Amino acid sequence: MNTVSFADLKLAPEILKALTEAGYTTPTPIQAQAIPVVLSGEDLMAGAQTGTGKTAAFALPLLQQLMPHASASTSPAKHPVRALILVPTRELAVQVEESVKMYAKYTNLRSLVVYGGVDIKTQTPHLKTGVEILVATPGRLLDHLEQKTVLLNQVQMLVLDEADRMLDMGFMPALKRILALLPRRRQSLMFSATFSDDIKKLSEDFLIYPSLIEVARSNATSENIKQKVYLVPSEDKHALLAKLLKGDDAKQVIVFTKTKLTASRLTRQLQREGIEADAIHGDRSQSERQQTLEAFKQGKVSVLIATDVAARGLDIDHLPMVINYEIPHAAEDYVHRIGRTGRAGAKGTALSLVSPEEEKYLVDIEKLIKTTIEKETASVPHVPRGEARPQSAPREPRESREPRQAYHKPVPNKPAHDPWFDQPYVPKVTEPAPSTSKPDIHSAKPKAQIPALFRRSS
Ligand code: AMP
Repeated sequence: MNTVSFADLKLAPEILKALTEAGYTTPTPIQAQAIPVVLSGEDLMAGAQTGTGKTAAFALPLLQQLMPHASASTSPAKHPVRALILVPTRELAVQVEESVKMYAKYTNLRSLVVYGGVDIKTQTPHLKTGVEILVATPGRLLDHLEQKTVLLNQVQMLVLDEADRMLDMGFMPALKRILALLPRRRQSLMFSATFSDDIKKLSEDFLIYPSLIEVARSNATSENIKQKVYLVPSEDKHALLAKLLKGDDAKQVIVFTKTKLTASRLTRQLQREGIEADAIHGDRSQSERQQTLEAFKQGKVSVLIATDVAARGLDIDHLPMVINYEIPHAAEDYVHRIGRTGRAGAKGTALSLVSPEEEKYLVDIEKLIKTTIEKETASVPHVPRGEARPQSAPREPRESREPRQAYHKPVPNKPAHDPWFDQPYVPKVTEPAPSTSKPDIHSAKPKAQIPALFRRSS
């Protein structure tokens, strides 16, 4: 049980005041664990996904560390970039900076966000006024560095947020170029929802003797979130989705698709059926994405159709429902997607529409989250072409009829995406694991070796 308060974590009164205003009463587990580590000046490797309160876990101690440098002066020279927060997507960049601004509101620390997709010239004047905390996507930051509109030689704190997604998105070369420009003497923090070998390698390269913190990875999917799978042929998915979206509990829903094409097509179909849907994906301009997100947050749009890239970092409080129209092929993406709901203690529902072809991915997901998800074979009445489908066709309970043949196919027992996930969950690995702990038969490496992976070899 976590009974620490923010005051116990020795945060400055200015920061505590902002937290009280934001309605935060108790630190989340990642905050309770990470804040003391960051305040002690150590490097940190934290395993935490969106929805655990990870932004405040790095932003609050970061602000606290920078407080001695806060200045009311208007001179840009008094406001060099001292903390750099790198994030994979524009949406996440905007949200992280909004949080930083909110927490910093009673300090004299300034923050700014820079990301691609908007005219770089609009960002330059703001950079020139001087900011202590810069939140950036790697590509746009490189543009600014090339144009010499920002200097990083006074950076004392670096945060790599959602590092796994940054690698997935191919940002490794950009990260290397940026990190080479930072002072060697600095504190570095890395947050990642997953720990692939590439992430371990990245942490070896950029962190020095980091403390390793992890908050419940698989439990996070099951505690607050009711998960359910509908087994449904691909051609019936749309009718089932329309029915689910017309349900009473579907007031604000994110629907995930695998491709931009499906997202656009589905949006148009739903709109034609009178459902207030809009799409957010990489093909839409930054301002369109922001507008859509705002409309969704304000409840003007009730269904947001999103691809995985757009999903990262969407911070919508108390979102009641997430629907996977197509389940992701990477099991970790499932965890990220459903993490949009059931946040900060609220309850949520995550429904997945799974066709026979997708069942193999479902096996990987269940293995990763160590949970067998409740399943129902959906019956969607067949409607001849050209006729509208019934709006809410009643569905028989699963037991009362023969399930479709396709679902009797044995599903291949594929190993999980990364064997690391099969290891028993250990909350914080700062000491060797006790020798009595039962080895997991799936483990590729013993848990006690993990801290060594994070040490510099030289
Ligand atoms: P994050 O994981 O950083 O995306 O945060 C998820 C959500 O939880 C955000 O809406 C935060 O504003 C909220 N949050 C973070 N920390 C707390 C806290 N200690 N108490 C209440 N809400 C929080």
